[in-house]
Amino acid sequence: MRNARRAGQIAGLAAAVLIALPAVLAAAQQGQGRGRQGAAGILAIIARPKFATMLVIGFVALILLLTRKMKNTVKVPILVLSTFLYGVAANLPTKLFAGFAMHPSPICSATKSVLYGFRPPMIAFLAVILVLTLVGPRLFCGWVCPVGAIQELIAMLADKLRIRRRKWSFRATQGVRVGIFLLFVFLSGAAVLHTTSQNGQTVALSLYDYINAFHGYEIAIQPTLLDNLFHFLPFLLTLGFAFIVYRPFCYLVCPIGLLTNLVENFALFRVVRRKSACTDCAACAAKSPCPTVPEILKDAAIRPDCFSCTVCVNSCCPKGAFSFAIKSK
Ligand code: SF4
Ligand code: SF4
Repeated sequence: MRNARRAGQIAGLAAAVLIALPAVLAAAQQGQGRGRQGAAGILAIIARPKFATMLVIGFVALILLLTRKMKNTVKVPILVLSTFLYGVAANLPTKLFAGFAMHPSPICSATKSVLYGFRPPMIAFLAVILVLTLVGPRLFCGWVCPVGAIQELIAMLADKLRIRRRKWSFRATQGVRVGIFLLFVFLSGAAVLHTTSQNGQTVALSLYDYINAFHGYEIAIQPTLLDNLFHFLPFLLTLGFAFIVYRPFCYLVCPIGLLTNLVENFALFRVVRRKSACTDCAACAAKSPCPTVPEILKDAAIRPDCFSCTVCVNSCCPKGAFSFAIKSK
């Protein structure tokens, strides 16, 4: 477990450096090149409805979590709203939600930036993701991301239907997630995956293009059967597997999940355990959907992903030993 965590940390750090450093450099370059226009341009993008509402939803969720008011009656509407706004809305035949289109998806904002260079919308999206994760607890993945939100809703439905979900071994899932990320880096670096664009330029393809569940929210028939398969299958598989395992796409595939798992360990707020109220009954570890609670019980400094689902806080501990609070150390 320790080795898996260390490998995850190293890969997460590599992801952070690969993704965040060029973003900072690009922002600095833009700042240098155009005076204050670069930073101002990025702030202007963040102020657009899509990103501004993401920040609002994230911070509303934070307040509800900290005040223990995030019950299922509040949780479901928030998750449905995020699924609708950031996933479904742009497909509706109205211009009202044109500004909520998927491009760039969270995955593309990170991976395409590594391949093609950082552009203001991608820097803005990464900044929103990182801010919400650094404040925590995992406010982007837990409450804003449309692929995360629909998996969480399916997990809740599976619980209602009494479908017995299997629990992840973090060691195994982190191995797969890190492996996919390293393969992406290798294939991109070695330029194995290349294609020629229509204007004759050679452009790199990302490995994640073939396994990106976010594409499923772009509801449009693709030219060929194979194109449709690559476009919709990752999303459909994610929905199906979400009934039997908790957040399959987040734990197994998503590079943003890898990055935010590293960042969440430095977040201001997270799940904390009041030792004086804990009887070590381990009811929380048995009932929670994640591999994180056993690590919290061990006071591990580095934790597996917590999506602030509220299960351990609201319904596991008979003594209320868990809460969302400021990180003590
Ligand atoms: S890990 Fe990826 S898919 Fe899951 S909630 Fe986070 S950004 Fe969304
Ligand atoms: S059960 Fe607790 S530790 Fe696990 S994801 Fe939910 S809030 Fe986080």
